[in-house]
Amino acid sequence: MEQVRILVVEDEVIVARTIANQLNQLGYTVIGTASSGQIAIAKALESRPELVLMDVILKGEMDGITAASQIREQLDIPVIFLTAYGDSNTVQRAKTTQPFGYVIKPFTPKDLHIAIEMGLLKHELERDLREHRDRLATLLNSMSDAVIATNEKGIVTFVNPAAELITGWQQVDALGKDISKIFQLVDEVTETSLENPVAKVLREQQVVYLDDFTSLITKNGSRVPIGDSASPIMRQSGQINGVVVVFWDLSERRQAQLLEQALHKEREVNQLKSLFISTVSHEFRNPLSVIQSSVELIELQGENLKPEKRKTYLKRINSAVQSMKTLMEDVLFMGKSDAGKLECQPALLDLAEFCQELIAEFTTIHPRSAEIIFNCHSDRTEACMDEQLLRYIFTNLLNNAVKYSPTGGNILFDLTCDLIDGVAIFRIQDHGIGIPEADQARLFESFYRASNVQSIPGTGLGLVIVKKCVEAHQGQISIHSQAGIGSTLTITLPLNYQNRIQ
Ligand code: ATP
Ligand code: MG
Repeated sequence: MEQVRILVVEDEVIVARTIANQLNQLGYTVIGTASSGQIAIAKALESRPELVLMDVILKGEMDGITAASQIREQLDIPVIFLTAYGDSNTVQRAKTTQPFGYVIKPFTPKDLHIAIEMGLLKHELERDLREHRDRLATLLNSMSDAVIATNEKGIVTFVNPAAELITGWQQVDALGKDISKIFQLVDEVTETSLENPVAKVLREQQVVYLDDFTSLITKNGSRVPIGDSASPIMRQSGQINGVVVVFWDLSERRQAQLLEQALHKEREVNQLKSLFISTVSHEFRNPLSVIQSSVELIELQGENLKPEKRKTYLKRINSAVQSMKTLMEDVLFMGKSDAGKLECQPALLDLAEFCQELIAEFTTIHPRSAEIIFNCHSDRTEACMDEQLLRYIFTNLLNNAVKYSPTGGNILFDLTCDLIDGVAIFRIQDHGIGIPEADQARLFESFYRASNVQSIPGTGLGLVIVKKCVEAHQGQISIHSQAGIGSTLTITLPLNYQNRIQ
């Protein structure tokens, strides 16, 4: 094993020599002796001993305590004081130089040996600790993740450069401040401020993670979307010693997500457009071919065409033209509402009267359909709504109720005006084929038709139009239906739409 090299600083030559002898006997190498502080510093600088034994009283102006502090600062060499002065004043002064030992004269070689070994060990441990700390600091400072540490009271003790960049707080300004001052979180969706994760960790004593869509409010008040985790720092005794928050900037990822969503939406809209065009063309083709074949048959039979046949063909042509007209109107309506041109022009009207007239009209056009039973549950039914849009809504709903019910069944049409909530509630109930549960969520998609209506004609645009008219009034629509039992459609519209938008 290599011998430890020691510098002895002692103003009395004989004592210095005695100590040097003792050290040699103990197996240490004495690299020299010095009688003053200046000489001690010069020798330490020149021969870099591993330890200095330092007397407190020295020759010259500089005493051992001052010399020790300079040696320690400049060279990081451990110093052990050897002195006859054990008074508290001297000990206090010596303490400021963080000595590695303090031996009171007279001492035995054994005392010296123990003090040197303890001093060397302490120095080695201190160096290891410092190296660890430096390594950790380099790691934290070069990390791309932001790190903030606090003590057990939530007071900031460390901020790495990445955290400085995101929060806008420099470490020097943040140190000593409460974490809630420099790390404020807000929910991006609800706009409410969130509990500080450090407070949560201190309370729950376990790792906590941020919810999605969390933003940090920076020093200048801007917001940065972040992801993070906060972990407790535990003492060996199991007590919490502080908290470390690790977080990272999600701005780029969030922007990429938004871009991806926008692209996805655009793709979807394009797909829907193509689907719309192909479905509409397809829907036009059916009545067109009916018209074409009927005309061909009329031409072919010419003079020989019997009057009944002619009537049948003309009826076919007429109904095909009608269905094309309805489809055309629906498509035009959709185009108008998609272009944002669907206007709600409310006017005063009496809802009970309106419903009764509409039912009467409807029954005239569909004489052999189900019976529509109207019930009004309110005395006052005046409202301010767009009559044209109301007509679209209820004609479509009645059409469906009739179309998807066996002939001759009853359809209940209820109206309630709730003056307190300021809404009119319309309910149309049939006892028809109902809507399978699996189809219910998609009924407001253009051209979507339930699996149990494939043999019944229809395009799947009616409910889409109804929904648009309801939304134009800022109202709501809900469907309650059971396959084989029947359906109830409830429409809730503000009684006085004009007041609502003011
Ligand atoms: P059209 O565009 O000619 O109205 P459609 O009736 O098929 O065609 P929607 O009115 O939008 O289209 O209705 C969508 C689907 O909802 C229907 O195809 C049907 O499956 C279902 N549906 C709507 N109302 C009822 C009802 N009262 N009873 C049973 N099914 C219904
Ligand atoms: Mg319909």
